[in-house]
Amino acid sequence: MADGRIIKALSGFYYVQDEANKEIYQCRGRGNFRKRKITPLVGDFVVYEAENKTDGYILEVNERENELVRPPIANVDQAFLVFSATQPTFNTQLLDKFLVHIEASDIKAIICISKIDLVSESEENEILAYAENYRDIGYDVLVSSAQSLSGVSEIEPHFQEKVTVFAGQSGVGKSSLLNAIKPELDLDTSDISTHLGRGKHTTRHVELIPFGSGLVADTPGFSSLDFRGIEADDLWLYFPEIRDKSNECKFRACTHQAEPGCAVKDAVESEEIKAYRYDHYSSFFQEIKDQKRRY
Ligand code: GDP
Ligand code: ZN
Repeated sequence: MADGRIIKALSGFYYVQDEANKEIYQCRGRGNFRKRKITPLVGDFVVYEAENKTDGYILEVNERENELVRPPIANVDQAFLVFSATQPTFNTQLLDKFLVHIEASDIKAIICISKIDLVSESEENEILAYAENYRDIGYDVLVSSAQSLSGVSEIEPHFQEKVTVFAGQSGVGKSSLLNAIKPELDLDTSDISTHLGRGKHTTRHVELIPFGSGLVADTPGFSSLDFRGIEADDLWLYFPEIRDKSNECKFRACTHQAEPGCAVKDAVESEEIKAYRYDHYSSFFQEIKDQKRRY
């Protein structure tokens, strides 16, 4: 018996990387976890047994830290969320929607603003002000260009020792960024970047690809951004600055909408919480309520 991690699942086989020797063993599922109705996922830490490289068995699946549905991966450390300064237009409502989904999955978010070479100085200043606001909220924010390579060297250290899922709309520059980092790492990132840039991600195939000392998923995450699975009454938990303020609200179950004595609304008034963030909170809150009515 040995410990390992599933880095790829394909056609009923699991490819387990041994924790000690780092070799890959092709395994089938077998063992008690099946009685618990657990299906092994890419990213799972497992106990396995293998006489040779192609005849292994997974005996046990260790408890998960977290679990994504799209792509199906367990134990993800972080989402690397790419948003372009332009083309497509920088859209804070969509950014906040991604952040809600990442927070709800209990994963750390790193925001990377890409294509900064394409905007004018005044647009850049506006975007840098947003960047500062997200830093104040507690997020890591990187600003980069795959074209001029500005900010690119600061990206790579964030991937080390971590399992990272890329997120962000198609065309924001996810694969370009990976390729821009590549020369320094001297790695073949084409496996990841061609998949990331593919646009439509219909297959359930997913693989973790070594990237320095880290692993990067070859399929972008959070592609479906409806609010199914997220309760309106829990939404405040996924806005860190609202979450921090809410213990000062008069009512413990305050939803920060129309309740009296709402510290969150006061903080918006005093600009301690940015109005656009609160507006997005309120519109998502309403969207979830409306969605519930439809199902
Ligand atoms: P993905 O779908 O998120 O992987 O996006 P791509 O990496 O395929 O980039 C989409 C388009 O934007 C391509 O035509 C890239 O050449 C272009 N692009 C990506 N990053 C940059 C950048 O930093 N600056 C400029 N000017 N163009 C970029
Ligand atoms: Zn409140």
